[in-house]
Amino acid sequence: MVNPIDKPTLQRVFINRLPITWLAAVFVVFVCLSLVAIDGWQSWSARRVQLQEAKVATTNMATAIAQHADDTIKEADTALVGLVERVQTDGTSPAALERLHRLLVQRVGELDQLNGLFVYDEKGNWLVNSMASMPANVNNADRNYFIYHRKHLDSAPFIGLPIQSRSNGAWILTVSRRINHPDGSFAGVALATINMDYFNKFYDHFEIGKRGAIVLALDAGMMLTRRPLLYDSIGKNIANSTVFVNYVSRSKFGTISIVSSQDGVKRIHSFRHVEHYPLFVVAALSEEEILAVWLSDTYLHSAGVALLLLVLVVFGFHLVRQIQRRVHAEAEIVQARDALLTLNKTLEQLSLQDSLTGLSNRRHFDIALEKEFKRAMRNGRSLALIMIDADYFKQYNDMYGHTEGDECLRTISQIVKSNQNRPGDLAVRYGGEELAILLPDTDLRGAMTIAENIRYHVHRLAIEHSGSPFGVVTISAGVEAYVPFRNEQLPLELVQAADKALYNAKADGRNRVCFNTNIDKATLVDEV
Ligand code: GH3
Ligand code: MG
Ligand code: MG
Repeated sequence: MVNPIDKPTLQRVFINRLPITWLAAVFVVFVCLSLVAIDGWQSWSARRVQLQEAKVATTNMATAIAQHADDTIKEADTALVGLVERVQTDGTSPAALERLHRLLVQRVGELDQLNGLFVYDEKGNWLVNSMASMPANVNNADRNYFIYHRKHLDSAPFIGLPIQSRSNGAWILTVSRRINHPDGSFAGVALATINMDYFNKFYDHFEIGKRGAIVLALDAGMMLTRRPLLYDSIGKNIANSTVFVNYVSRSKFGTISIVSSQDGVKRIHSFRHVEHYPLFVVAALSEEEILAVWLSDTYLHSAGVALLLLVLVVFGFHLVRQIQRRVHAEAEIVQARDALLTLNKTLEQLSLQDSLTGLSNRRHFDIALEKEFKRAMRNGRSLALIMIDADYFKQYNDMYGHTEGDECLRTISQIVKSNQNRPGDLAVRYGGEELAILLPDTDLRGAMTIAENIRYHVHRLAIEHSGSPFGVVTISAGVEAYVPFRNEQLPLELVQAADKALYNAKADGRNRVCFNTNIDKATLVDEV
């Protein structure tokens, strides 16, 4: 019967086949990881590209806004330069002021951004303006720009914080220049006011999302306007902000990505200083908004990849399990085959072995004799056979009992067995207490030596046998050896000849070795 799979066989098969299961598992894991890695890398690259494009967009926006601020103020300032020149040259006589009034009205009509043009004397009184009528008893000596120019000799334009117009209440940006008397002393101020709306409308054209921002500010850090405009935007001091301290105050332009300390939003900021005026602009876009489309794409991708992974894992799991089952089945087959082989070997041995003596049995002898006889015939080699028979064994059984007889037979068999010197030699129990040794490639001389050796050793054992004239257990042996001739001799004849020699040994008095062939018996015995 085939045993259930024993552990060592299973281990052996599994260890040999382990790599296949492992390879399949590693392959599935590798494919899954690769998928995740490739998708992750692609998403990350797409994110980088998106941010890079946003940086370019904010940079372009900052450039456009700075250029716009520069152009807007320059046009107003150019008008101021002409105005100052005119006042300084023509003076402020009523006729000159009348001419000037017409000029101012014309200028304001020409430039969209201009809210108004004004000229004040050294005390802040209104001399002339671009409006239809001159308000009475109005004095602007308290305005920042007026105080600034009165104190500063330089002729550079001054840009002040936005103020609410006293004439129409709108938020306006003031750009002013000092007017001098011929001796260089302070003669008053020429002022251009620009509608802040002009900037705001321009900024409305840009797509900045809900969390983006556009800022126009003075280099000193005061905000002029902002989109979206908050209640405290105008005039707010941002000189302490990170963007201002670390970047705006240090370079002409740049792009940085930082988290706002105010609302915690991460933005890409591009700033740029206005070329001809002490102003800078900032354009900022929220990273979250920039990446919103990318993020939804990534979620969609990830869901797809997750689904694919799930399919792969399920499929891979089944694949590995199938392989495991196959390996297990193969192990069972191998084990069953091994068991059958072992069983066959055992059965074969049993069918060829004598159970009492452990020698080969008569069946084995018949097979071996046939084979060796043919081989000897083919090779022209001598084949020898020794037939051995215990002497007075019937008496031994009678006197010592059958069990002792069996034991004695086993002892004699051991001696016979120990005389199998070569792999081809075969010791057998021929039948009853009769043993034999088949000796391929052995001539009569060699066979006689072996037979005598066996006889000698059995005798020397001195197993008591009071029923024998020798007083101990002895054996007799008959030997035959020759090179068989094809088609002339049969295996059986070798047995018969050896048997005949054995008969002679018995007849000659037992405890001796006899042979059949014509050879000098005395010489042979002497050699033992
Ligand atoms: P001899 O050969 O010397 O002429 O006398 P013998 O007594 O040995 O002669 P015989 O061949 O007539 O007797 C053989 C005896 O061997 C008969 C049997 O009791 C005994 N014998 C045969 N096979 C076995 C065996 O397997 N076990 C035992 N104990 N005895 C056996
Ligand atoms: Mg006998
Ligand atoms: Mg006998």
